[in-house]
Amino acid sequence: MKKIGLIGGLSWESTADYYKRINEYVKNQYGGLHSAKCLVYSFNFHEVVELQNNGRWQEATEEMITAAQSLEKAGAELVIICTNTMHLMAKEVQEAISIPLIHIVDVIAESIKSHGFSKIGLLGTRFTMEKDFYKEKLEEHGIETIIPTEEDRAIVHHVIYDELCQGIVCPNSKASYQAIIERLASRGAEGVILGCTEIPLLISEHDTLIPLFDSTKLHAEYATKLALLPKEQVS
Ligand code: GLU
Repeated sequence: MKKIGLIGGLSWESTADYYKRINEYVKNQYGGLHSAKCLVYSFNFHEVVELQNNGRWQEATEEMITAAQSLEKAGAELVIICTNTMHLMAKEVQEAISIPLIHIVDVIAESIKSHGFSKIGLLGTRFTMEKDFYKEKLEEHGIETIIPTEEDRAIVHHVIYDELCQGIVCPNSKASYQAIIERLASRGAEGVILGCTEIPLLISEHDTLIPLFDSTKLHAEYATKLALLPKEQVS
């Protein structure tokens, strides 16, 4: 079993979810007392949000590179960034390390394609929904992205930072998300990506009529599956 390096604390609420899912996956495979070998580099999210909100993306990139290099130095054999937003600098992070970085969008795109879908709704932070990095990566996989309206994006973003990242799960917000997902479906989305690792704390596939792609679940499970493969099959 290879050691998984987790870049976490973005926020710790979702890192805890990753940690649980990774260990559950190993337990389901091997049973008994088996658990995952992993290392966590956990940020103070407050400091990262300061950089994001002030557009200090270069400094944020340097912080992410330091995290990935620390994990590699500590013995990680593959790395995951436990947030969608900070895949903005995934390319730079991958170039700065010699172990594989498992890109969250590649994993989600494979799942979308296995459903035969090519038009997908995206919920995430403002950065994920409005910047190009996420949509472009989906496009590389032949998937077209539909993002919510300006008004709906403001709601989605607010719920992430002011509620979910602070451990607050509110039924009204769940209803708002359900309505936003319905509006995306009415605009042609065949499914919706929960493209923020805290959103699955609020809503799940049982709450909507169209399929949801849970970024945390898909990413955590895929990385763990890779960690259990022989070394030469991990790239
Ligand atoms: N966890 C969220 C995401 O998946 C937001 C955290 C962040 O701003 O990095 O995008």
